[in-house]
Amino acid sequence: MKKKGFLIVLSGPSGVGKGAISKQLRERDNNLWYSVSATTRKPRQGEVNGVDYYFLSEDEFLKKVHNGDFIEWACFCNNYYGTPKTKVLEMLERNVDVILEIDIQGAKKVKENFKEAIFIFILPPSREEWRHRILKRGTENDKERELRLETGEIELKELKNYDYAIINDLLINAVRQVEIIVEVEKLRVFRYLEDDENEWKFND
Ligand code: 5GP
Repeated sequence: MKKKGFLIVLSGPSGVGKGAISKQLRERDNNLWYSVSATTRKPRQGEVNGVDYYFLSEDEFLKKVHNGDFIEWACFCNNYYGTPKTKVLEMLERNVDVILEIDIQGAKKVKENFKEAIFIFILPPSREEWRHRILKRGTENDKERELRLETGEIELKELKNYDYAIINDLLINAVRQVEIIVEVEKLRVFRYLEDDENEWKFND
């Protein structure tokens, strides 16, 4: 049986620390691949095109939507975000697990199309700490920050549609918890079964 990788979807409100968690995951596990998204958002200070995001104009982004180049895409706080398709599918085919750090709308679309994906919701330890983190990173103006907080409150209501929840209090614990989830998920019986016959076979 040819084993394939699976998608690890990390979602949660803006400012909750998804980026920091996925960065550490990437550094610690060579069999995890991080999918770099495309966005029409302007780069933040220090963000590098092709590393943090593929920064596109709205025209470029919508052309890709039209061509079916994304696994999923969404409009989040007035900007478009999307997961490029080709490389992700190639990695899954090569039995590499792929991390998608995407919003709730995107996660819903992934759920419709990838039955073997896992969905992890990252929660802030408290509302106060969450606000503090967004304020501290200083990447948005007051209006943008408020929009992200309002959107986040709505997103929190979607927790029920996820498989796992992690409270990102201490970063290293949150990272370890994602790793444990991935380890256990690899042992799920359905991942061992032949698609057509629904039973396990020796490789020899
Ligand atoms: P930020 O502007 O803070 O980098 O990202 C804003 C939100 O967009 C975050 O919740 C982030 O996870 C989400 N996001 C990033 N890339 C994608 C993507 O490819 N698709 C979707 N649907 N959301 C994304």
